[in-house]
Amino acid sequence: MAAVGRRPRDRVPVAGASRWSAALVLALALALAAQRVSLLHGVSTVLFVHAHPDDETIATGALIAELVARGIRVSLLTATRGEQGEVVPGPLSVLEGTDALTRERERELAGAAATLGIDGRFWLGMPPARATGLPPRAYQDSGMTWIRPGLAGPADDIDDDALVRAPLGEVTADVAALIGLLEPALVISYDNGGGYGHPDHVRMHEAAVAASRVAGVAFAEVVHSEVDDAEWFDLSAHLATVTDALRCHASQLTVDGDGAHIVHSGGQRDPIITAVGLRPL
Ligand SMILES: [Zn+2]
Repeated sequence: MAAVGRRPRDRVPVAGASRWSAALVLALALALAAQRVSLLHGVSTVLFVHAHPDDETIATGALIAELVARGIRVSLLTATRGEQGEVVPGPLSVLEGTDALTRERERELAGAAATLGIDGRFWLGMPPARATGLPPRAYQDSGMTWIRPGLAGPADDIDDDALVRAPLGEVTADVAALIGLLEPALVISYDNGGGYGHPDHVRMHEAAVAASRVAGVAFAEVVHSEVDDAEWFDLSAHLATVTDALRCHASQLTVDGDGAHIVHSGGQRDPIITAVGLRPL
């Protein structure tokens, strides 16, 4: 009877345990990887850096609404007042090219920011978004021209006060001053192509990246397609909030009757953005 000895099945549980261990290790690795790629893990304050009123809502309105819903404090830095932008044909078109347009766009931005739940708004060049020792300044919208559909380039005539004529070091120092005050855990701005090439967007990407590095703060750029190195957010649940915020920018755009598109002052029709990616740099 002693010949029965060790039976083959004695080894079966050992092999099974090995498989379970491998599965457990894989599950833990996946959990850790998922935690590592989440840019928002542990983040309590975020600063968005944009060039013109309406960019915050068009490009990142749904993301801002999502962060606010998660209890994250969101601040917004806007570089110019969109002075060079066209005006939607209709009752507000008399404002085009006047100082009253500047005031109107400030008012529109205030309404959109409140709708999205933004906690604090700041203008580039105005304290506290101004480098120590420099007098306040209002950076002007640099304007743009269409090189081809969907890609903007520099305007033919650029004012001396235009954002793109200001030294990058000065713009960066202004952004850094605000970062130093707010101490956000994450700064978010355009990608290095400015989304669609607007020179002011590109400038603010450059300044936001440089200022974040100086301050040692994480930076992420907004991307509008699902790419491997970006964290993707489906934010369609915030469509109603974004639509309400878009309607605040009545001098710049119109929400289409289908509730899913906007029509810009120049007539271009785009979908309302409710999904974005964040790519850490
Ligand atoms: Zn813009």
